[in-house]
Amino acid sequence: MTNDAPSVKEAKQVPDTISPETHARQRQLLEELSNAFGPTGHEGPVRAIVRRELTPLVDDVETDGIGSVIARIGDETEGVPRIMIAGHMDEVGLMVRQITAEGYLTIQTLGGWLDQSLINQRWVVMTRNGPIPGLTGIKTVHVMQPDARTQVFKKENMFIDVGAKNKEDAEQRLGIRPGDPVAPDSRFQEMAGGELYLGKAWDDRAGVAGLIEIARAIRESADPLPATVYLVATVQEEVGLRGAHTSSFHVMPDIGLNLESGVAGDYPGITKDEAQEELGKGPTVFLHDSSMIPNLRLRDFIVDTAADLEMPLQFNVLSGYGEDGAEMQKAGSGAPSINIAIPTRYLHSHNGIIHRDDFANAVRLVTAVLHRLTPDAVTNLTTFD
Ligand SMILES: [Zn+2]
Repeated sequence: MTNDAPSVKEAKQVPDTISPETHARQRQLLEELSNAFGPTGHEGPVRAIVRRELTPLVDDVETDGIGSVIARIGDETEGVPRIMIAGHMDEVGLMVRQITAEGYLTIQTLGGWLDQSLINQRWVVMTRNGPIPGLTGIKTVHVMQPDARTQVFKKENMFIDVGAKNKEDAEQRLGIRPGDPVAPDSRFQEMAGGELYLGKAWDDRAGVAGLIEIARAIRESADPLPATVYLVATVQEEVGLRGAHTSSFHVMPDIGLNLESGVAGDYPGITKDEAQEELGKGPTVFLHDSSMIPNLRLRDFIVDTAADLEMPLQFNVLSGYGEDGAEMQKAGSGAPSINIAIPTRYLHSHNGIIHRDDFANAVRLVTAVLHRLTPDAVTNLTTFD
């Protein structure tokens, strides 16, 4: 696509390089969001951080009826394009199903878990009296028959040990009730000299942190945006894009950009055919997942913007996986939409790894795209041959 305006680089709408101060600020935000408690349907602590960070940076912040945060930059003027950027606040977790007579908790999973990621892990159970620690106990090898030693433990047989003496003790002293949410107990750490970040819930706290950093970058730029931008931190993505469904209906975007945790394919046992992204090689544009096929003009618009920024960019074609972009694409009469991801290793478990440059570049890329989405560009993208 042609673009007569000065390049985003010449126009200084995004910084040329990632400064040490930017890395330090982003690291702090990513650490806080990664550590925050927020299983699907119970995103309150994450929502509080999002509201605190976005309120001074945007023109309006509201919450829809299911709990997604919708922040607007710009006026809702007739004829001005509406661009929605989504990132989901929820993380995969558990819920207390029932408390056994002995005081152990049986579980319901929230989101997609491998059974072998659940066993022998530390958890935070959020009761009405506050958080308490728990452990998915594993039967010891000493009492196990030889053939059972090589088998995967099934989640249906798992329980959380909270150290209660019995059911009454769990209910009365520890304050546990069925329905209490449970999140992985896992703390942020730097790796590899500070370039890599190890922690839980990069899916999709990396995207949520991206929304906040994009809002900051827009505020710091002297150039006003040519469109109205809605930064939406959604709920309940991991159980079927439920928050994005209602918030997309609310915003009715002309263009949808989703910010997600991608699927890195750069470690032993995963093939490039299964996932093509690698850590440290730039943000990723998804070309296929089981929820959405993106608009290819929008793909090219993003590829051109990344080239203009001299930024590395990757692609990924996945057979599984779903993301909020699918709901933006289907809202109202439909909108060109695409998923932009921060490559992540080992998502949907207690620990994942991202590269700080991929995150910082995803923020630069989306910010630059927003500066380029003029009414003419949006008309072009929403025109079909
Ligand atoms: Zn996700």
